[in-house]
Amino acid sequence: YIKQQGGDDICWYHTDIDEATAGSLQLEAELRIAATEGQFIPYYQPKFELATGIITGFEALVRWQHPTRGLLKPIDFIDAILTHKLSFELFSQMAVRITQQLSIWLQQGFCQHICINADAAEFSHPDFFEMVKNLLAQHDIYAQQLHIEVTESSLIQRHANVKKQLDSLKELGVFLALDDFGTGYASLSYLQEYPFDFIKIDKSFISNIETDRTQHAIVKAILDLAVALDMQVIAEGIETQQQRDLLLAMGCQYGQGYFLGKPVPVDIATEMLIQQYAPK
Ligand code: C2E
Ligand code: MG
Ligand code: MG
Ligand code: MG
Repeated sequence: YIKQQGGDDICWYHTDIDEATAGSLQLEAELRIAATEGQFIPYYQPKFELATGIITGFEALVRWQHPTRGLLKPIDFIDAILTHKLSFELFSQMAVRITQQLSIWLQQGFCQHICINADAAEFSHPDFFEMVKNLLAQHDIYAQQLHIEVTESSLIQRHANVKKQLDSLKELGVFLALDDFGTGYASLSYLQEYPFDFIKIDKSFISNIETDRTQHAIVKAILDLAVALDMQVIAEGIETQQQRDLLLAMGCQYGQGYFLGKPVPVDIATEMLIQQYAPK
């Protein structure tokens, strides 16, 4: 192939492309194995009621236990999941693990919910709703104990069925959260169009909230809007005590972030619950 092309520059150009293609084919093949062999595992990040410091639930964040590359974060593979149409496989695997874990925690007397992230591409799958419903029934979980977070950016693509699926989930009693609020193209119209219960303020609005007047004003406006719409607010990405105190003073009810608790493996999450529920 190189010989046919002649000149050196072109050779290298083609070699690079071949390598990129080979890399992407390998990633795709590995993701398919990951999907069938159960290499996707949830990490759990606690969600706190700011006023009391109580953990009210955990957000499940996917990690890929890669056979040779170690534990990978979503940024390393989430785009490829979408490209190769493996979203539903990812969601099913996470949903199975999460509902199993939730039922264990509930049996241990820990009153919790778990939030699962879902791309809008996952909702358009015809089996999505039935799968969620069956998992809840199978594990004796109230629909209210499962929250589903959808990012604004994934709603822009207007996948078929999204509205129908979200309405059905809402009817079932599952709580719905609009994730990364404020970073999409149509934040406000999504609130109007879909039946969300929670707004998650994106961390980009929290990072300098103590000093940045614009961030402060935006968060204040979101909190006011939520009250008017009878929705609850969760602030993401709280990294300092000052941010937490300020958000609490502003009337924000729930928060997540490295200052409060990082995403952790299941045994550490369980340990946190044991501490919380231990008699004082
Ligand atoms: P997200 O749902 O908005 O989750 C929050 C992300 O911010 C997580 O990154 C979390 O580890 C990180 N984070 C939490 N607190 C802080 C903080 O105080 N400071 C900073 N700088 N970051 C913080 P992660 O786990 O890498 O996930 C990235 C994104 O990948 C998630 O954003 C979500 O959109 C997506 N994702 C994660 N798990 C899944 C999944 O199972 N399915 C789908 N479809 N998407 C997922
Ligand atoms: Mg999320
Ligand atoms: Mg978010
Ligand atoms: Mg995000």
